[in-house]
Amino acid sequence: MSTPRRPTSSQVLEATGVLLALGTLALGVLGTLPEEPHFEVGREVFGNIPDPAVLLFYVGTGAFLWLTLHLFAQRAASWQQGGEDSRSGRWEARLRRLYEGLTMRTVVRDARAGVMHSMIYYGFVVLFLGTATLELDHLAPSSLKFLHGNFYLGYSAALDLAAIVYLGGLGLAVIGRYVVPTWRIRSKTKPQDALILTVLILIGVTGLLVEGARISLAGRPDHEVWSFLGYPISYLFAQADAGDWHRFLWTIHVVSFVAFLVALPLTKLRHLATSPANLFLSARERPKGAMRPMPNLLEAEDIESIGVSVATDLTWKQIFDTEACTVCGRCTSVCPANITGKPLDPREMVLKSGEVAASLAGVAAPVGSNAVLEGAGSLFDRIGTDEVFACTTCRACDEICPVDIEIVDRILDMRRYLTLMESDFPTELGKAFVAMENQSNPWGMSQQARADWTSELDFDVPVLGQDKDTAEYLWFVGCAGSFDDRNTAVSVALARLMHRSGIDFAILGQREMCNGDAARRSGNEFVFQQLALQNIATFEELGVKKIITQCAHCFNTLGNEYRQFGGEYEVVHHSQLLAELLAQGRIDEPRKENGEVKKIAYHDACYLGRHNDVYLAPRRVVGASGNTVVEMERHGTRSLCCGAGGARFWMEEKTGKKVNVERAEEALGTEADEIAVACPFCFVMLDDGVKELGRDDVPVRDIAMILADGL
Ligand code: SF4
Ligand code: SF4
Repeated sequence: MSTPRRPTSSQVLEATGVLLALGTLALGVLGTLPEEPHFEVGREVFGNIPDPAVLLFYVGTGAFLWLTLHLFAQRAASWQQGGEDSRSGRWEARLRRLYEGLTMRTVVRDARAGVMHSMIYYGFVVLFLGTATLELDHLAPSSLKFLHGNFYLGYSAALDLAAIVYLGGLGLAVIGRYVVPTWRIRSKTKPQDALILTVLILIGVTGLLVEGARISLAGRPDHEVWSFLGYPISYLFAQADAGDWHRFLWTIHVVSFVAFLVALPLTKLRHLATSPANLFLSARERPKGAMRPMPNLLEAEDIESIGVSVATDLTWKQIFDTEACTVCGRCTSVCPANITGKPLDPREMVLKSGEVAASLAGVAAPVGSNAVLEGAGSLFDRIGTDEVFACTTCRACDEICPVDIEIVDRILDMRRYLTLMESDFPTELGKAFVAMENQSNPWGMSQQARADWTSELDFDVPVLGQDKDTAEYLWFVGCAGSFDDRNTAVSVALARLMHRSGIDFAILGQREMCNGDAARRSGNEFVFQQLALQNIATFEELGVKKIITQCAHCFNTLGNEYRQFGGEYEVVHHSQLLAELLAQGRIDEPRKENGEVKKIAYHDACYLGRHNDVYLAPRRVVGASGNTVVEMERHGTRSLCCGAGGARFWMEEKTGKKVNVERAEEALGTEADEIAVACPFCFVMLDDGVKELGRDDVPVRDIAMILADGL
């Protein structure tokens, strides 16, 4: 039995348009039925407006509401060409995110934009609800009418207050866009922005003028002083002319509202509908740190193409994202690649993919777009390989986007295509790919040397399956912790701490393979799957349930991505483990013999922080070492990447300023005595950055080394 086809977005939008139009007409008919009683303190709805004009108002509003939805339905052709992406279920998370969007919580993280947006939004919502209340009262039978007496007085004052807030917000928007614009606003200001602001201001101003003319026409009764703006405005109109003025201004008010309805699907105002929808759709099944899953490439036989190269390879959600973009440029302002002069601009990444999808669907390009394409289908008509490979996958863009647009996924999907279908990747990556394939680690070191670092210890580190059959924790040391000189010191320090705490752990020794993160994030899904499947097979054979890692990338990949291939484990980062052991008293907090307290600046690793929300544990460990944690300007969710993520560690940085130098400068700017890291790649990048700046006097060390100082 075939499953019934679900209606498409276009069909839903068209049907909604028809229903809204019919509903508006029905309201018009119902509005003619009730007698409009006279209240001493109140007002007559549609007073002074001729019946044919009222009829035209309902018919016109209905028709334009239909047109608005019809234009949205046409745009749906763009995202409907995209592939599958399940966004059902997780209703609680969806509704919570929608609520956060509708209450402006995702916008206020930028104070300036947040205040301005909130004023316009809340002002508009209250004015709209005021109009709806008026209509409701108009339709109610005489006995149920409520808009009179004290309620009317409060209603009048509340709406005038909302008008001040709304117009004040629009004033701030004009100043922010045309008087003191930031780069991210100035670079995307288009003529339609002026048009939108004009329409919105016109709605607010004509609303107040209509009110003033109405009050003048009514002879300025005392109770209308509660309309504390409308009342003084009424003095602009002599009572004898007020009727004509009222009709004229009411017409302009209605026409400006109709212009708003038309502008809604055709201009940037579109985001009033698409942004909340995108927030509602944002919850997804996989964790933040996991890339989009792919079928098992080692077994699949019928895969024609891998990754994303044409618009139809994008998912419908990735295309819908481009409809929701408000072009605010916050993503660009936090992008380490863009900040340091690389060719990547995440906002443009969204807009360019939207342009290609829109062009293929035959609809207008997204707002803020710089190019008009005709019939182009390939994303690489607009996006260069250098842009795609400049990304450090730091997730700063996704995290800051006020409407939850997923930028990193599309970049990584394009890398998958370029690397596996076109072999078009930075040449330096080739060496790392071969090393991962042949030696199971990107350094190209011999597997025999995996556990050589343990010779520095005065106790044995057991190897699982060799020295012991079971252990509570498998310690997945990682390639950096096994082979990189600076990072083997971290392994030694961590081994000492764990040994002292008495926890039951073992390593894999020569059977440990690279976790595969660098392969996956550079687009080589094939090598990633080879490594992941071998590690998973080893874990299964040895009955591994809990894993400790000292690497943010191992932590993310083992914990969030191996489950895509059936490997589900409890993965603990060493920052979390050490914080827990300290809390349990299983590691003593080191005593400072000389009483020296250092200032230590902690650098958040992207794959620990933004990808996995681990912010406090490493700070607790540094704090427990008896030193003081100081914060860099960009820290926590806004931390700046060290430049190593997304396999950038294995690529040369030929353009612009080095990301690690930018970050090292910021760390040194805190005047800290030392810099703490909790990821081996951050360790190397920041240590190199500090040395490049000639500041060898400021050591960079992992949190385990700092804590082990006192042992
Ligand atoms: S993930 Fe980081 S580097 Fe990549 S586009 Fe986003 S902000 Fe830029
Ligand atoms: S992707 Fe998000 S943060 Fe970037 S410009 Fe669009 S709405 Fe703003």
